[in-house]
Amino acid sequence: MDNAVQLTGLSQPEMISFVETMGEPAYRGRQLFAALQHRRLRSFDEITDLPKDLRARLNEMAKAATLKIESQYTSGDGTRRYLMKTHDGLPVETVFIPEERRDTICFSSQSGCPLQCTFCLTAQLGLLRSLTAGEIVEQIHIALNNAYGTGVKTPRGTNLVAMGAGEPLLNLDQLLKALRVMADPQGLHIVPNRVTVSTAGVVPRILDLAKTSDRPHLAISLAAATDELRNELMPINKRWPPEDLLSACKVFEKTLKPGERLTFEYVMLDGVNDSDEQARQLANLLNRHDIRSKVNLIPHNPADPLPYRPSSDQTVERFKNILESKGIHTYVRRPRGRDIFAACGQLAARQTTLSNRIESSLVGANN
Ligand code: SF4
Repeated sequence: MDNAVQLTGLSQPEMISFVETMGEPAYRGRQLFAALQHRRLRSFDEITDLPKDLRARLNEMAKAATLKIESQYTSGDGTRRYLMKTHDGLPVETVFIPEERRDTICFSSQSGCPLQCTFCLTAQLGLLRSLTAGEIVEQIHIALNNAYGTGVKTPRGTNLVAMGAGEPLLNLDQLLKALRVMADPQGLHIVPNRVTVSTAGVVPRILDLAKTSDRPHLAISLAAATDELRNELMPINKRWPPEDLLSACKVFEKTLKPGERLTFEYVMLDGVNDSDEQARQLANLLNRHDIRSKVNLIPHNPADPLPYRPSSDQTVERFKNILESKGIHTYVRRPRGRDIFAACGQLAARQTTLSNRIESSLVGANN
């Protein structure tokens, strides 16, 4: 990108400072912030309440939007997956999941991912680069505009989950900046309490997050309760093994609000981590650390060329019962958007071609 300032990553005070450097009064900054963040407009020419000459100057020195939708897929269950491209041609994936009470948007924090979880397709891309705060915010704008129309008030609230491509805690500064921009009541007004960040277990950043007053909820991807198996499934474990990870979670627990629980995500891989014994090991690990938490069991989402299959429904149920018998709050997450490769661990910038349930279209106008 040229030297144009990417405005979607600016907070309202930063937007005001920016317009003041252009010789404009502060209220123009507030207008611009509301146009970009509340009405989700994606070009200066659409902001017709700004004077024409100001719009022309903005076009010369700033960008209202940088991501472009490359392709879009809609699942039979209503889930939508967007494959976007950054200004420098890197893939970014975002998933919109309509739900009865609130929609959920699963966004990416990095293009690709440096971690090498063996059950995840994104891992195969490696890290392309971390996303800027503006690129994180834009994913939400694009998903909402596509689902409801530009500037249209959403009929339901929105939850956000940082569970798309990338390890969010390896891009913590930009992530927190984006969340602060999105929390502004004059903008999207999605408060941190509506946001869950999922980590593979970057222990120092978990401790940093614990010190952050306006932090989102935290989920930890465990996938195994023993050192040996977790080393195999999630190599980050060699750096921060379960005991270190759980000790950091214990520190984080002190910051939990009433009613809030830490979430442990456990992907269920057939014949790999789903035995009765492994359920008991998981329960023992969590009980030993006695953390106010819950476990989400996530049936694996099969994707070639990953060498895993999902656990059967009966196995998942039995695993859940064992955890519950040991006092662990346990839930089974329903997979969404499997047919369009939109589910957890499946985001790898792939162009979906099969399945006549998929509506695939090149979108150019709305991005
Ligand atoms: S599961 Fe998450 S952290 Fe692990 S490789 Fe995939 S995107 Fe990265």
